[in-house]
Amino acid sequence: MTGFTARCLCGAVQLSVEAEPLMMANCHCDDCRRATGASFASVVHVPADKLTVTAGEPASFEHESDKGSKMKKFFCSSCGSQLFGANDAWPDRRTVRVGVIDDASWFKPRANVYASRKLPATILDPEVKAFDKMPG
Ligand SMILES: [Zn+2]
Ligand SMILES: [Zn+2]
Repeated sequence: MTGFTARCLCGAVQLSVEAEPLMMANCHCDDCRRATGASFASVVHVPADKLTVTAGEPASFEHESDKGSKMKKFFCSSCGSQLFGANDAWPDRRTVRVGVIDDASWFKPRANVYASRKLPATILDPEVKAFDKMPG
């Protein structure tokens, strides 16, 4: 695997990443839950300069993280699919939502972050490191 492609539900916005993932994780924080509409968010961290929007133009929404950094969520303005995120604490990274990746069969989370906020029904894999908050 030396990269992957992704697209939103309606197909208007498409992405291409020409790099191996830097990190793969699940985030159980309230913001991720609210933004994705799912019980937790699964993301693939990639180098910012290796992510290209190949079709359409995602809309974005900026908010502040609980650590005070500025986070930006990019989504399709027609169908609402969340595509990727940016955090000014890691300007050289983007976090692609696993659900929009065309073939994410290789996805293997290395960490469960904000495990302290997980829903009671979410079962964590004991093989995957769990962090109460965001490490670092
Ligand atoms: Zn769309
Ligand atoms: Zn989160």
